[in-house]
Amino acid sequence: MKVLVVSGGVISGLGKGITTSSLGRLLKARGVSVTILKIDPYLNVDAGTMNPYQHGEVFVLDDGTEADLDLGNYERFLGQSLSGSHNLTTGKIYRSVIEKKRRGDYLGNTVQIIPHVTGEIKRAVRDVAEAAGAEVVLVEVGGTVGDIESMPFLEALRELSYELGEGAMAFVHTTLVPVVGPVGEAKTKPTQHSVRELRAIGIRPNMIIARGPAPLTADIKAKISLFCDVPPEAVISVADQPLIYEVPLVLEAQGVGSLLARLLRLPDRPPDYAAWKEFLGTHRRASPSVEIAMVGKYTELKDAYLSHIEAFHHVQGHLGIGVNLRWYDSEDIPKNPTLEARLRRTDAMLVPGGFGARGVEGKIRAIGIARAESIPYLGICYGFQMAAVEFARDVLGLSAATSTEIDPATPDPVVSLLEEQKGRENLGGTMRLGAQRVNLVPDSLVARLYGRTEIWERHRHRYELNPAYLERFRARGLAVTGSAVDGRVEAIELAGHPFFLGVQFHPEFLSRPEAPHPLYVALVRAAAAKKEVAAPAAPPPAVA
Ligand code: GLN
Repeated sequence: MKVLVVSGGVISGLGKGITTSSLGRLLKARGVSVTILKIDPYLNVDAGTMNPYQHGEVFVLDDGTEADLDLGNYERFLGQSLSGSHNLTTGKIYRSVIEKKRRGDYLGNTVQIIPHVTGEIKRAVRDVAEAAGAEVVLVEVGGTVGDIESMPFLEALRELSYELGEGAMAFVHTTLVPVVGPVGEAKTKPTQHSVRELRAIGIRPNMIIARGPAPLTADIKAKISLFCDVPPEAVISVADQPLIYEVPLVLEAQGVGSLLARLLRLPDRPPDYAAWKEFLGTHRRASPSVEIAMVGKYTELKDAYLSHIEAFHHVQGHLGIGVNLRWYDSEDIPKNPTLEARLRRTDAMLVPGGFGARGVEGKIRAIGIARAESIPYLGICYGFQMAAVEFARDVLGLSAATSTEIDPATPDPVVSLLEEQKGRENLGGTMRLGAQRVNLVPDSLVARLYGRTEIWERHRHRYELNPAYLERFRARGLAVTGSAVDGRVEAIELAGHPFFLGVQFHPEFLSRPEAPHPLYVALVRAAAAKKEVAAPAAPPPAVA
């Protein structure tokens, strides 16, 4: 078992998740099998009930775990699906220590942070390594070195490195080198201090990855090397990149791949980046953009919709069509007629998942525009449910139709609570979650896009389309084209519209740079087709 630890210093939000994912990619490009474990030193057991404004999107795994969004980056960079055991939180560790204690596993002993909590952490790391059968486990330690919260984790990793012995474990420390003052001087002091913190815990980093707005000069690298006791070739500079998928190549260009192989005593085979480079090349050369309207309520924090944004990058790198996401705060739409006018001119629209009543009327209006104006539309989860509500109101004339999530007393509950959810009081981890099988109607739009009639997609919802309305929907052209094994509705599409598709599941979680998701590919294609048709014909050549 080999372990590569990635810690962070100075501040959070340095892109440690991207760095870790990229390091994994470097090893994978050399034919080394890898997996990644994320440590979140907060007391929540999982990210399920966290506000997207605090932590960004909740990323759902196949097994239904509601995880930190970094797990999404890992899956995308590695092209591998992960399970819930790859997201460790303080809450999970304490929960299992307390359960063990109650069971009597530590009988007679005082239960303490060291060795019981640290022991539990080491066990979790070993379990992930074993279950994944990977040659290298990357462990990303969330938070910033020096935080009280991450101490037990770093201590456990230090102990583990001692137990595993020479050459089995390496430590990469990610820091910030800010550029300040009128002449733009790069400052190494924060890095020096944070490395000192790390050494005080008994961890000596083998590599320092310095983040910052611009690449480090050789001088600054030498200075960090000297003060932090890391060889100059192990001081790596990662400046901000226009696209996160560039980072593996930025690291590779500085010899990081070979350095990792040496540190972990792995064979250093020539890396293969053929498909990755092709994706990046197509992305860079993309044609002028189509505009996709993204209508949601967390639009100020783009991390809340991270997987959607990434899915569109994957499409751009696949089709070579530039994608310009234009964000609409759904709460503003009913208040501002110019937004409606703008929505009418968009090339396509996506309404992503969401919860609660705030901003919902704006979403319904936007969907109404997409439906009436033949704008390609993809509705995901809440965006699917609200498409049904909009249709019920405007086409079936049920003006008070809504979801019981918004109005439990509505006369027309077009969307209502899943049967198994009734009477449930616990809100953590109790939605219909994770990968579920969906059967598609042969020859439907959605079946053609997937190229098959049985798919597995990830879910995260408490409400569903009410079967009582399906016959009326069908009679007016809105047909069910996907269902779960138990019959619940998974996909709807509108006849006579160029592209109007709603899905109860979350395709965004499965899109990857080397395998863009077919529904996103199709939406961008439909947007390009619409733009083409709408573009005014070229003026006739001038007559001499
Ligand atoms: N709020 C809706 C539900 O619980 C949709 C959830 C979502 O969009 N993820 O069913």
